[in-house]
Amino acid sequence: MSSAPTRITVIGAGVIGLSCACDLANAGHEVTVIADHGPGDTVSALAGALWFPYYAAGTEQVVERSLRRFVELASLADSVGTDVPDGEVDDLTDDVPPVQMRTGLLHERLAPPDRSWVAPVVKVLGYDAVQPVDGGVRATLPMIMTSRYLAWLMDSCRMNGVAFQWRTVASLEELTGTTDAVVIAGGLRGGELLGGDDAVTPVRGQLMLFANGDGGEDGPLLTDWVVDSDDPSHMTYVFPREDEIVVGGTSEPGSWDETPDQATAEAILSRAEALVPELTELPIIGHGAGLRPARETVRIEHVDGYDLPVIAAYGHGGAGVTLSWGTAERVVELVGEL
Ligand SMILES: Cc1cc2nc3c(=O)[nH]c(=O)nc-3n(C[C@H](O)[C@H](O)[C@H](O)COP(=O)(O)OP(=O)(O)OC[C@H]3O[C@@H](n4cnc5c(N)ncnc54)[C@H](O)[C@@H]3O)c2cc1C
Repeated sequence: MSSAPTRITVIGAGVIGLSCACDLANAGHEVTVIADHGPGDTVSALAGALWFPYYAAGTEQVVERSLRRFVELASLADSVGTDVPDGEVDDLTDDVPPVQMRTGLLHERLAPPDRSWVAPVVKVLGYDAVQPVDGGVRATLPMIMTSRYLAWLMDSCRMNGVAFQWRTVASLEELTGTTDAVVIAGGLRGGELLGGDDAVTPVRGQLMLFANGDGGEDGPLLTDWVVDSDDPSHMTYVFPREDEIVVGGTSEPGSWDETPDQATAEAILSRAEALVPELTELPIIGHGAGLRPARETVRIEHVDGYDLPVIAAYGHGGAGVTLSWGTAERVVELVGEL
């Protein structure tokens, strides 16, 4: 908790900006978010999103904190209950965090496999959450229903008094006099306001959406996730949400192409159907592609040299949702240290 309320401007309304805004407001600050893309129009809206520290170097300090927060949200959702009567899905209140603990299988093809993610999971959830099985690891992890989750985050921000302005910030100078500190949560564009950041690169991801079934006439109801990503050029994942299933993907460093491509979609489909044959019984309802804001190491730090105190919080690669709450907690600490 900070001692005195301070005016903080957060640039960015993706999962990082909104999580920072929420926690800063909770810590007693007067927060304004400025963004030129609303949450539904950011790369955050494309995320699967399974809690998993993928493509996110140098984040040990925030991985575990984020996991704790998502586990708390999932248990909150559990205690409120998510049983929705037929036909009332749209009325589901955003008071319920759209986060659920889901079990799934991580295929491992490398020797030795990368199990760096296991330690924080065991620490937070215990040994039962992770079980080595033939060909991989079975784990129970938070699944974040991204589009509803971003709406829930926006609501949480508004309830905590966060103000929003929808515009581009062309330079930090234009904020002088309007705020006491700036948090830059601009994703792939995070370095632009700091004179550029060569360490940031896009890593393109393509995915498709299936309608989930109902276990009856509408086809099988999938609940378990599957990830097979040890070969980055052929990464495959299947993330069942409630009424839709996110199926990916690709991992193409340096590509700026945000348009889904048909040949890639066909390749994803054939890999995904080999992993989860039930997908052949379900309809495809959409395609998407987006750019993960990858950086050599995720940047969460105070940046010197500006008239205003500046904190950078960007470069979360393929794990922005995964790392969001830990990032927000660290940003609140950094603001407190100013
Ligand atoms: C296909 C795919 C699948 C993914 N799956 C997962 C997953 O399962 N789990 C997971 O954890 N992560 C996943 N990710 C990664 C995740 O989506 C990103 O790490 C995360 O969304 C980054 O969030 P962000 O808030 O930093 O950036 P963004 O969501 O890109 O938001 C940036 C914000 O900054 C604003 N902005 C930038 N510059 C300015 C400016 N000058 N003025 C005003 N506004 C500005 C933009 O308008 C926007 O609101 C996936 C990504 C892709 C592409």
